[in-house]
Amino acid sequence: MPGEKVVASKIALTYKDEIRDFLASLPLNTPAPLLVGLLATSDPAAESYANWTKKAFEEDGLRYEVRKIEEQHVEEALAQCNDDPNVHGIIVYYPIFGLTPSYSGSSHDDYLRDSVSVQKDVEGLTFTYRTSLYKNIRYLNSNPNSKCVLPCTALSCVKILEHCGVYAKSPGVHNRLQGKTCTIINRSEIVGRPLAAMLANDGATVYSCDVDSIYKFEAGGLRRCDEGTTVKSVVEISDVVVTGVPVKSYKLPTEWIKENTVVINVASFKNVDADELLKIDGVKYVPMVGKVTVKMLERNLCRLYKQYHMDRKG
Ligand code: NAD
Repeated sequence: MPGEKVVASKIALTYKDEIRDFLASLPLNTPAPLLVGLLATSDPAAESYANWTKKAFEEDGLRYEVRKIEEQHVEEALAQCNDDPNVHGIIVYYPIFGLTPSYSGSSHDDYLRDSVSVQKDVEGLTFTYRTSLYKNIRYLNSNPNSKCVLPCTALSCVKILEHCGVYAKSPGVHNRLQGKTCTIINRSEIVGRPLAAMLANDGATVYSCDVDSIYKFEAGGLRRCDEGTTVKSVVEISDVVVTGVPVKSYKLPTEWIKENTVVINVASFKNVDADELLKIDGVKYVPMVGKVTVKMLERNLCRLYKQYHMDRKG
Protein backbone atom coordinates (compact mmCIF):
# COMPACT_ATOMS: atom_id res chain seq x y z
CA MET A 1 0.00 0.00 0.00
CA PRO A 2 1.59 3.32 -1.01
CA GLY A 3 2.14 6.19 1.41
CA GLU A 4 -0.58 8.62 2.38
CA LYS A 5 -0.46 12.38 2.81
CA VAL A 6 -2.30 13.53 5.95
CA VAL A 7 -3.53 17.11 5.87
CA ALA A 8 -3.31 19.08 9.13
CA SER A 9 -6.37 21.20 8.35
CA LYS A 10 -8.55 18.08 8.53
CA ILE A 11 -7.18 17.19 11.98
CA ALA A 12 -7.67 20.82 13.08
CA LEU A 13 -11.43 20.55 12.47
CA THR A 14 -11.90 18.32 15.55
CA TYR A 15 -10.47 21.06 17.75
CA LYS A 16 -12.45 23.78 15.98
CA ASP A 17 -15.60 21.93 17.10
CA GLU A 18 -14.26 21.57 20.65
CA ILE A 19 -13.61 25.34 20.86
CA ARG A 20 -17.03 26.17 19.41
CA ASP A 21 -18.68 23.93 22.03
CA PHE A 22 -16.69 25.58 24.83
CA LEU A 23 -17.72 29.07 23.72
CA ALA A 24 -21.34 27.96 23.43
CA SER A 25 -21.19 26.75 27.06
CA LEU A 26 -20.29 30.21 28.39
CA PRO A 27 -23.07 32.27 30.03
CA LEU A 28 -24.94 34.56 27.64
CA ASN A 29 -23.17 37.89 26.87
CA THR A 30 -19.82 36.68 28.25
CA PRO A 31 -17.02 38.19 26.13
CA ALA A 32 -14.92 35.48 24.49
CA PRO A 33 -11.48 34.80 26.03
CA LEU A 34 -8.88 37.37 24.99
CA LEU A 35 -5.30 36.61 23.93
CA VAL A 36 -2.87 39.54 23.74
CA GLY A 37 0.20 39.27 21.52
CA LEU A 38 3.18 41.47 22.42
CA LEU A 39 5.15 42.27 19.29
CA ALA A 40 8.48 43.97 19.93
CA THR A 41 10.61 42.25 17.34
CA SER A 42 11.34 43.52 13.86
CA ASP A 43 11.24 39.94 12.50
CA PRO A 44 8.63 39.97 9.67
CA ALA A 45 7.91 36.26 10.35
CA ALA A 46 6.63 37.19 13.83
CA GLU A 47 4.28 39.82 12.41
CA SER A 48 2.88 37.47 9.80
CA TYR A 49 2.43 34.76 12.48
CA ALA A 50 0.55 37.35 14.59
CA ASN A 51 -1.71 38.29 11.64
CA TRP A 52 -2.36 34.67 10.85
CA THR A 53 -3.22 33.95 14.50
CA LYS A 54 -5.64 36.90 14.57
CA LYS A 55 -7.45 35.58 11.49
CA ALA A 56 -7.77 32.07 12.93
CA PHE A 57 -8.98 33.39 16.32
CA GLU A 58 -11.62 35.60 14.71
CA GLU A 59 -12.87 32.72 12.58
CA ASP A 60 -13.30 30.62 15.72
CA GLY A 61 -15.02 33.35 17.79
CA LEU A 62 -12.04 34.03 20.09
CA ARG A 63 -10.50 37.46 20.65
CA TYR A 64 -6.91 38.30 19.76
CA GLU A 65 -5.23 41.69 20.04
CA VAL A 66 -1.69 42.47 18.96
CA ARG A 67 0.17 45.25 20.80
CA LYS A 68 3.22 46.66 19.02
CA ILE A 69 5.78 48.05 21.44
CA GLU A 70 9.40 49.17 21.63
CA GLU A 71 11.69 46.53 23.12
CA GLN A 72 12.46 48.72 26.17
CA HIS A 73 8.74 48.70 27.07
CA VAL A 74 8.11 44.96 26.79
CA GLU A 75 8.55 44.22 30.47
CA GLU A 76 6.11 46.98 31.45
CA ALA A 77 3.55 45.89 28.82
CA LEU A 78 3.87 42.31 30.03
CA ALA A 79 3.29 43.35 33.65
CA GLN A 80 0.16 45.27 32.57
CA CYS A 81 -1.20 42.21 30.78
CA ASN A 82 -0.43 40.01 33.81
CA ASP A 83 -2.41 42.40 36.05
CA ASP A 84 -5.32 43.04 33.67
CA PRO A 85 -8.30 40.74 34.48
CA ASN A 86 -9.66 41.33 30.97
CA VAL A 87 -6.60 39.62 29.44
CA HIS A 88 -6.79 35.83 29.65
CA GLY A 89 -3.71 34.79 27.68
CA ILE A 90 -0.39 36.35 26.64
CA ILE A 91 1.93 35.49 23.78
CA VAL A 92 5.27 37.27 23.39
CA TYR A 93 7.01 37.05 20.03
CA TYR A 94 10.70 36.15 20.27
CA PRO A 95 13.52 36.76 19.72
CA ILE A 96 13.49 40.28 21.15
CA PHE A 97 16.78 40.83 22.95
CA GLY A 98 18.04 37.46 21.65
CA LEU A 99 18.49 39.05 18.21
CA THR A 100 21.77 40.39 19.52
CA PRO A 101 24.25 37.51 19.16
CA SER A 102 25.15 37.56 22.83
CA TYR A 103 24.35 35.33 25.77
CA SER A 104 22.79 38.25 27.68
CA GLY A 105 20.26 38.83 24.86
CA SER A 106 18.82 35.34 24.86
CA SER A 107 18.96 35.17 28.63
CA HIS A 108 16.87 38.36 28.80
CA ASP A 109 14.30 36.69 26.51
CA ASP A 110 14.29 33.74 28.94
CA TYR A 111 13.64 36.14 31.80
CA LEU A 112 10.65 37.58 29.90
CA ARG A 113 9.35 34.07 29.20
CA ASP A 114 9.41 33.34 32.91
CA SER A 115 7.65 36.63 33.70
CA VAL A 116 4.39 35.59 32.05
CA SER A 117 1.77 34.63 34.65
CA VAL A 118 1.17 30.85 34.72
CA GLN A 119 -2.54 31.71 34.58
CA LYS A 120 -2.00 33.40 31.18
CA ASP A 121 0.89 31.41 29.66
CA VAL A 122 -0.81 29.99 26.54
CA GLU A 123 2.51 28.70 25.22
CA GLY A 124 3.44 26.68 28.32
CA LEU A 125 6.96 28.10 28.25
CA THR A 126 7.29 29.57 31.75
CA PHE A 127 9.66 27.84 34.13
CA THR A 128 6.73 26.33 36.06
CA TYR A 129 5.27 24.58 33.03
CA ARG A 130 8.64 23.59 31.57
CA THR A 131 9.74 22.03 34.87
CA SER A 132 6.42 20.19 35.14
CA LEU A 133 6.84 18.80 31.63
CA TYR A 134 10.42 17.65 32.18
CA LYS A 135 9.43 16.05 35.51
CA ASN A 136 6.29 14.52 33.96
CA ILE A 137 4.01 16.39 36.35
CA ARG A 138 0.63 16.88 34.69
CA TYR A 139 -1.24 19.03 37.24
CA LEU A 140 -0.01 22.08 39.15
CA ASN A 141 0.09 21.41 42.92
CA SER A 142 -1.63 18.05 42.21
CA ASN A 143 -4.84 20.00 41.65
CA PRO A 144 -7.03 18.22 39.04
CA ASN A 145 -8.48 21.63 38.09
CA SER A 146 -5.04 23.01 37.19
CA LYS A 147 -3.87 20.97 34.24
CA CYS A 148 -0.41 22.04 33.05
CA VAL A 149 -0.19 23.91 29.74
CA LEU A 150 1.96 22.29 27.04
CA PRO A 151 3.86 24.06 24.22
CA CYS A 152 1.57 24.36 21.17
CA THR A 153 3.81 23.04 18.38
CA ALA A 154 4.91 19.99 20.35
CA LEU A 155 1.32 19.38 21.41
CA SER A 156 0.16 19.62 17.79
CA CYS A 157 2.59 16.79 16.90
CA VAL A 158 1.13 14.65 19.70
CA LYS A 159 -2.41 15.26 18.43
CA ILE A 160 -1.32 14.44 14.88
CA LEU A 161 0.25 11.18 16.08
CA GLU A 162 -2.98 10.33 17.92
CA HIS A 163 -4.89 10.98 14.69
CA CYS A 164 -2.47 8.77 12.74
CA GLY A 165 -3.08 5.88 15.16
CA VAL A 166 0.41 5.82 16.71
CA TYR A 167 -0.95 6.09 20.26
CA ALA A 168 -2.54 2.97 21.75
CA LYS A 169 -6.24 3.69 22.28
CA SER A 170 -6.80 2.98 25.96
CA PRO A 171 -4.14 1.81 28.43
CA GLY A 172 -2.83 3.99 31.29
CA VAL A 173 -2.25 7.65 30.48
CA HIS A 174 1.52 7.34 30.83
CA ASN A 175 2.40 4.52 28.45
CA ARG A 176 0.32 4.79 25.28
CA LEU A 177 3.52 4.95 23.19
CA GLN A 178 5.16 1.94 24.82
CA GLY A 179 7.25 0.04 22.26
CA LYS A 180 7.40 2.97 19.81
CA THR A 181 10.66 4.53 18.66
CA CYS A 182 10.67 8.18 17.56
CA THR A 183 13.32 10.42 16.05
CA ILE A 184 13.05 14.21 16.25
CA ILE A 185 15.50 16.22 14.16
CA ASN A 186 15.43 19.49 16.09
CA ARG A 187 16.14 20.12 19.77
CA SER A 188 15.02 23.72 20.19
CA GLU A 189 13.36 24.79 23.42
CA ILE A 190 10.14 25.57 21.54
CA VAL A 191 9.75 22.48 19.38
CA GLY A 192 12.12 19.52 19.65
CA ARG A 193 13.05 19.31 23.32
CA PRO A 194 9.51 19.58 24.73
CA LEU A 195 8.25 17.15 22.07
CA ALA A 196 10.97 14.61 22.96
CA ALA A 197 9.98 14.83 26.63
CA MET A 198 6.25 14.52 25.87
CA LEU A 199 6.69 11.40 23.73
CA ALA A 200 9.06 9.85 26.29
CA ASN A 201 6.58 10.66 29.10
CA ASP A 202 4.02 8.65 27.12
CA GLY A 203 6.33 5.63 26.98
CA ALA A 204 8.26 6.02 23.69
CA THR A 205 12.01 5.74 23.18
CA VAL A 206 12.95 9.06 21.59
CA TYR A 207 16.11 10.03 19.74
CA SER A 208 16.55 13.79 19.79
CA CYS A 209 18.95 15.02 17.12
CA ASP A 210 20.39 18.48 16.75
CA VAL A 211 23.18 19.77 14.59
CA ASP A 212 25.96 18.20 16.70
CA SER A 213 24.55 15.59 19.06
CA ILE A 214 21.95 12.87 19.58
CA TYR A 215 20.23 12.30 22.93
CA LYS A 216 18.05 9.38 23.92
CA PHE A 217 14.97 10.37 25.96
CA GLU A 218 13.08 7.70 27.87
CA ALA A 219 10.57 7.94 30.71
CA GLY A 220 12.59 9.06 33.69
CA GLY A 221 15.59 10.55 31.92
CA LEU A 222 17.86 11.25 29.01
CA ARG A 223 21.43 10.47 28.04
CA ARG A 224 23.80 11.47 25.26
CA CYS A 225 24.27 8.73 22.64
CA ASP A 226 27.74 7.48 21.79
CA GLU A 227 29.63 8.52 18.65
CA GLY A 228 28.47 5.43 16.76
CA THR A 229 24.84 6.58 16.86
CA THR A 230 23.92 8.56 13.75
CA VAL A 231 20.76 10.21 12.43
CA LYS A 232 20.67 7.40 9.82
CA SER A 233 20.88 4.66 12.45
CA VAL A 234 18.06 6.11 14.57
CA VAL A 235 15.75 7.03 11.66
CA GLU A 236 16.11 3.46 10.32
CA ILE A 237 14.57 2.00 13.50
CA SER A 238 11.91 4.70 14.02
CA ASP A 239 8.12 4.41 13.81
CA VAL A 240 7.86 8.21 13.93
CA VAL A 241 10.18 10.82 12.43
CA VAL A 242 9.69 14.55 13.05
CA THR A 243 11.77 17.02 11.05
CA GLY A 244 12.25 20.64 12.12
CA VAL A 245 15.40 21.80 10.36
CA PRO A 246 15.11 25.51 9.53
CA VAL A 247 17.14 25.42 6.30
CA LYS A 248 16.01 25.04 2.72
CA SER A 249 18.93 22.84 1.72
CA TYR A 250 18.25 20.12 4.32
CA LYS A 251 16.66 16.94 2.93
CA LEU A 252 16.26 13.81 4.99
CA PRO A 253 17.27 10.81 2.83
CA THR A 254 14.03 8.88 2.32
CA GLU A 255 15.86 5.56 1.93
CA TRP A 256 16.46 5.66 5.72
CA ILE A 257 12.71 5.57 6.44
CA LYS A 258 11.11 2.17 7.07
CA GLU A 259 7.64 1.10 5.99
CA ASN A 260 4.62 2.31 8.00
CA THR A 261 6.51 5.23 9.55
CA VAL A 262 4.66 8.45 10.38
CA VAL A 263 6.70 11.43 9.18
CA ILE A 264 5.82 14.94 10.38
CA ASN A 265 7.50 17.99 8.89
CA VAL A 266 7.35 20.86 11.39
CA ALA A 267 9.86 23.11 9.62
CA SER A 268 8.72 25.93 7.36
CA PHE A 269 10.91 24.31 4.69
CA LYS A 270 10.16 20.89 3.24
CA ASN A 271 12.79 18.72 4.94
CA VAL A 272 11.65 15.60 3.04
CA ASP A 273 11.05 14.85 -0.64
CA ALA A 274 7.32 14.05 -0.50
CA ASP A 275 7.20 12.21 -3.85
CA GLU A 276 9.96 9.81 -2.82
CA LEU A 277 8.59 9.40 0.70
CA LEU A 278 5.10 8.48 -0.49
CA LYS A 279 6.54 5.58 -2.52
CA ILE A 280 7.31 3.80 0.78
CA ASP A 281 4.60 1.34 1.83
CA GLY A 282 2.31 2.42 4.64
CA VAL A 283 4.04 5.74 5.30
CA LYS A 284 1.90 8.60 6.59
CA TYR A 285 3.29 12.05 5.81
CA VAL A 286 2.15 15.28 7.43
CA PRO A 287 3.82 18.11 5.49
CA MET A 288 2.72 21.02 7.73
CA VAL A 289 1.48 21.38 11.31
CA GLY A 290 0.59 25.09 11.56
CA LYS A 291 -3.19 24.63 11.36
CA VAL A 292 -3.15 22.22 14.31
CA THR A 293 -0.66 24.38 16.24
CA VAL A 294 -2.97 27.40 16.15
CA LYS A 295 -5.84 25.22 17.38
CA MET A 296 -3.63 24.14 20.31
CA LEU A 297 -3.01 27.82 21.05
CA GLU A 298 -6.78 28.43 21.08
CA ARG A 299 -7.34 25.33 23.19
CA ASN A 300 -4.68 26.41 25.71
CA LEU A 301 -6.36 29.83 25.96
CA CYS A 302 -9.76 28.21 26.59
CA ARG A 303 -8.21 25.89 29.18
CA LEU A 304 -6.59 28.79 31.07
CA TYR A 305 -9.84 30.74 30.86
CA LYS A 306 -11.78 27.81 32.31
CA GLN A 307 -9.21 27.07 35.02
CA TYR A 308 -8.44 30.58 36.20
CA HIS A 309 -10.69 33.29 34.74
CA MET A 310 -14.24 31.94 34.55
CA ASP A 311 -15.44 33.44 37.80
CA ARG A 312 -14.03 36.89 37.10
CA LYS A 313 -16.10 39.40 35.19
CA GLY A 314 -14.51 40.65 31.98
P1 NAD B 1 15.68 26.71 15.96
O1 NAD B 1 16.62 27.37 15.04
O2 NAD B 1 15.51 27.24 17.34
O3 NAD B 1 16.13 25.18 16.15
C1 NAD B 1 16.52 24.39 15.07
C2 NAD B 1 16.93 23.01 15.56
O4 NAD B 1 17.27 22.20 14.44
C3 NAD B 1 18.14 23.01 16.49
O5 NAD B 1 17.99 22.03 17.48
C4 NAD B 1 19.29 22.65 15.54
O6 NAD B 1 20.39 22.07 16.19
C5 NAD B 1 18.58 21.65 14.65
N1 NAD B 1 19.26 21.50 13.36
C6 NAD B 1 19.59 22.47 12.49
N2 NAD B 1 20.21 21.92 11.42
C7 NAD B 1 20.27 20.58 11.65
C8 NAD B 1 20.79 19.48 10.93
N3 NAD B 1 21.38 19.64 9.75
N4 NAD B 1 20.66 18.27 11.47
C9 NAD B 1 20.06 18.08 12.64
N5 NAD B 1 19.55 19.09 13.37
C10 NAD B 1 19.67 20.31 12.88
O7 NAD B 1 14.28 26.62 15.21
P2 NAD B 1 12.81 26.28 15.77
O8 NAD B 1 12.22 27.44 16.46
O9 NAD B 1 12.82 24.99 16.48
O10 NAD B 1 12.02 26.10 14.40
C11 NAD B 1 12.39 25.05 13.52
C12 NAD B 1 11.51 25.10 12.29
O11 NAD B 1 10.17 24.81 12.66
C13 NAD B 1 11.48 26.43 11.59
O12 NAD B 1 11.42 26.22 10.20
C14 NAD B 1 10.21 27.08 12.10
O13 NAD B 1 9.68 27.99 11.16
C15 NAD B 1 9.32 25.87 12.25
N6 NAD B 1 8.29 26.02 13.30
C16 NAD B 1 7.01 25.69 12.94
C17 NAD B 1 6.00 25.82 13.88
C18 NAD B 1 4.60 25.44 13.51
O14 NAD B 1 3.77 25.28 14.38
N7 NAD B 1 4.31 25.28 12.24
C19 NAD B 1 6.27 26.29 15.16
C20 NAD B 1 7.59 26.59 15.50
C21 NAD B 1 8.60 26.44 14.55
